[in-house]
Amino acid sequence: MTEHITSYYAATAHRQDARPALSGTATADVCVIGGGFTGVNAALELAERGVQVVLLEAAKIGFGASGRNGGQIVNGYSRDLDVIARRYGSTAGRAIGAMAREGGDIIRERVAQYAIACDLKPGGIFAAINHSQLRGLAHHVKTWSEFGYADGFELLDKTALQRHVKTQRYVGGLIDHKGGHLHPLNLVQGEAAAFESLGGVIYEDSEVTELKPGDMVTIKIAHGEVKAKTVLVCGNAYLKGVLPDLEARIMPVSSQVLATEPLGEDAAALLPSDMCVEDCNYILDYFRRTADNRILYGGGVVYGGQDPASVRSKILPLMHKTFPSLKDARIDFAWSGNFALTLTRFPQIGQLAPNVYFAHGDSGHGVTTTHLLARLLAEAVTGETQRFNVFAGLPYYPFPGGQALRVPLTLAGSWWYRARDWMGL
Ligand SMILES: Cc1cc2nc3c(=O)[nH]c(=O)nc-3n(C[C@H](O)[C@H](O)[C@H](O)COP(=O)(O)OP(=O)(O)OC[C@H]3O[C@@H](n4cnc5c(N)ncnc54)[C@H](O)[C@@H]3O)c2cc1C
Repeated sequence: MTEHITSYYAATAHRQDARPALSGTATADVCVIGGGFTGVNAALELAERGVQVVLLEAAKIGFGASGRNGGQIVNGYSRDLDVIARRYGSTAGRAIGAMAREGGDIIRERVAQYAIACDLKPGGIFAAINHSQLRGLAHHVKTWSEFGYADGFELLDKTALQRHVKTQRYVGGLIDHKGGHLHPLNLVQGEAAAFESLGGVIYEDSEVTELKPGDMVTIKIAHGEVKAKTVLVCGNAYLKGVLPDLEARIMPVSSQVLATEPLGEDAAALLPSDMCVEDCNYILDYFRRTADNRILYGGGVVYGGQDPASVRSKILPLMHKTFPSLKDARIDFAWSGNFALTLTRFPQIGQLAPNVYFAHGDSGHGVTTTHLLARLLAEAVTGETQRFNVFAGLPYYPFPGGQALRVPLTLAGSWWYRARDWMGL
């Protein structure tokens, strides 16, 4: 059995025991591959619509990015709404813009409907390191109000921001009151339990090795198989060697996270309003308080998805720069996880065959987007294709350089953006 990596989330997960692996043959209307937010929520959406679903997870529910991330509910996509409209045209831009807050709404609805205990807190802050970034945040508010989202935003100058984040590092920021944060592993586990409560079946330790297409697709694992009318591929950055053409559309990228010891009032003093924070750099820092008053601090990327030699030596200097008073804080957990980057920084959803669907590539902001894409998958499978088609119709581009050169070329591109951040442009 592949266990969760050691992390704050795994140590504080409500469910610790494993589900059985599949052995022999199972049948299903729909087979979902991958037990992260995308797969679990697509399965749950389908079960809510009365569809019979079997979900296969290679390790445990939430083993991938969904059980390791910063837990930040960030509305929208990894590109802003005006960029999307410029790039894809105003009709697609409007349609995509109309869904920009739906992922966050789905999370809050799920937590309420299924009473999921996942430390959900309201409010997320975007913190500006320079005045160019602060102007960018004002532009963000203007753009979103043009798309009909005038409520929920609060621009902050340096003094106002310091009431929420006790650091000298930022020149101002923006609160999104419709953002927030949570314990992502407990969320995805709660969603999985909700799926099972509706008759859904989950097999863990059941890595899919092959798909055989046909009217009934055969989905093979080491000691069994599922025969299903429809398959949803939701392995994201962790899907390896099953569908090479699909996997070539994305690049795994790792990001790293630390959690301090519980700091009691000291943590509350650093983040008094208990909102989560991410800065506006291209390679950004993100942090928040946990329910037991640790500071959970993430940042950095490794293109290609390898773990860095030391998570601590990568992230500690970032955390100490933001909060010098944490120099002596003990670090209880340090871990790494992979998200899937697309060249456009925009998620992809589509079909590999009439009965084989996929969704992946949230490009670092996936807590909300995965919930939206899961709903669109379920809509399409049950015959409501309109919203699915909006996303599925967008062009995608392979990474230049193919498998061999995509990492160095992306790294070279990122240096330009890092230099811009450094120069305050
Ligand atoms: C360190 C880190 C911090 C992040 N912080 C944030 C944040 O604060 N806010 C935010 O919005 N986004 C954040 N993200 C991004 C977000 O976590 C992801 O976009 C999202 O969780 C992706 O969900 P998913 O279900 O598509 O993929 P995953 O959660 O990676 O799930 C894929 C699952 O598929 C399984 N799988 C793969 N191959 C197979 C197979 N062959 N057979 C069976 N199962 C298979 C894997 O084991 C895995 O469990 C972060 C990501 C990382 C890595």
